[in-house]
Amino acid sequence: MSDVVSLKADCSQCQALCCVALAFDRSDMFAIDKQAGVACPNLATDYGCKIHEKLGQRGFVGCQKYDCLGAGQRIVNEVFPEADWMNNASQLPVIMEAFAALRRVHELLELLLAARCLPLPDGDGAICTQLIADLSPASGWQPKTLKDFGDGDIPQRVDVFLKGLRNLTEFRNRTTK
Ligand code: SF4
Repeated sequence: MSDVVSLKADCSQCQALCCVALAFDRSDMFAIDKQAGVACPNLATDYGCKIHEKLGQRGFVGCQKYDCLGAGQRIVNEVFPEADWMNNASQLPVIMEAFAALRRVHELLELLLAARCLPLPDGDGAICTQLIADLSPASGWQPKTLKDFGDGDIPQRVDVFLKGLRNLTEFRNRTTK
């Protein structure tokens, strides 16, 4: 696996995981309430969105704003290559759990990559590089490693590292845009 995977979402390579895994609250962002784990009524059987061209007009601005940071396509293509949750509902709980974990992994990677662009002191640079490597295992992520991720120490180590950068104005500017 290369240094770091793409953090750019590619919906064409996904199975609309955000359209089933996330909960919606009826609001300016979403026209309906929807529970996590329930497919959006606008989702077509080919995993496409029936109102893709009119999301804003139909009250689904939240869909346009959401970004899985590339976690969705990795879940479908790398972690669960046999995934087809619409035709095999029993797959959904584990896929959703893994999707949430990998989305968090990508979120942390995004922050660390922003930090890595800064003129960090040597020690911090090395820590940053190590954390990025820890979030980018050579053998990729598997259901088990994603399940363990939340209970492991990586999120906390990233948190401590990032908190240590708070005084760097450049980092604040990059991560609060
Ligand atoms: S409106 Fe379309 S993009 Fe939004 S959750 Fe439903 S199917 Fe997905």
